[in-house]
Amino acid sequence: MPNELTLSEIQQLAKQLSDFGLRHIVFSGGEPLLRKDFPNICDAFSKLNVKQTLLTNGLLLEKRFTEIGKYFSEIIISLDGPTAEIHNSIRGLEAFDQIIKGVKKVVSISNRPQLSIRTVLQKRNFRLISPMIDFAKSIGVNRISFLPVDVLSDSFGRFNKELIANRQEIILNEEEVIEFREIVTTMIEKHKHDFETKFISDTPESLLNRVQYFEALLGKNTFPQNYCNAPNVSTVITSTGEIQPCFFLPTFGNVRQNTLSQLVNNSQIRSLRKDVQNNKLERCTTCVCTLNVQPTAALLNSF
Ligand code: SF4
Repeated sequence: MPNELTLSEIQQLAKQLSDFGLRHIVFSGGEPLLRKDFPNICDAFSKLNVKQTLLTNGLLLEKRFTEIGKYFSEIIISLDGPTAEIHNSIRGLEAFDQIIKGVKKVVSISNRPQLSIRTVLQKRNFRLISPMIDFAKSIGVNRISFLPVDVLSDSFGRFNKELIANRQEIILNEEEVIEFREIVTTMIEKHKHDFETKFISDTPESLLNRVQYFEALLGKNTFPQNYCNAPNVSTVITSTGEIQPCFFLPTFGNVRQNTLSQLVNNSQIRSLRKDVQNNKLERCTTCVCTLNVQPTAALLNSF
């Protein structure tokens, strides 16, 4: 895309981030695998001993895994249904078969990153939560997690803007929300072992929070209480160098114009961190993608 950070700019940025003690980088999109020089980018962070995670739509995984696989401790693939029919209809793209080819390639390799599936729940797939877990097991991935569809922000680009425009076709109606609560309650019992082994990364409570979120969208409940310290432990840097406290809050500078040390502790971001900490931001109350890293995680180096 025009104006994206060059490889050389990213290499310099990697060094600056490392000087700040960066431990973990998550590449998300858009789609990171579209960048031809992506292996060079991964290599820059690898040389600095930074743990790397890839969040991908999976379309280019089969083609590019050989080049990039060695850099990652985890690859997370977005998959919204256990069949081509469901996934492709939600994504509007004939993608399912190609994604599964990529998954099969990765699971066939013995020394490979952890492979995870992330499913965004909405009207067309909320009844398939349990089949989705069974499907994830059948294709050999290591774990699965669920998020509710975000219809309240325009983060993550055009896809979500379309979702917002078609909100009623995506969120659950009153009867469906009642059904969803029953489905989740039943699956919590049925998949008890999968929670214990962490094959399902979410906790039973966080899945019940997904139900509450859909209830809140209809005004039938409050939004679940969010605990998030994303701006205190992480930062988002876009492909054009904009720096954000998290995916959902606005930019507070650009790494092309200022150094990281000028940016990450400026007065604007310090005050925002306090606001997040004190639950003062409206946006945080409806957020579906929080991050809550405990101090012990830092001590154990498990960011
Ligand atoms: S709750 Fe959401 S919007 Fe608020 S800081 Fe965390 S990630 Fe950002």
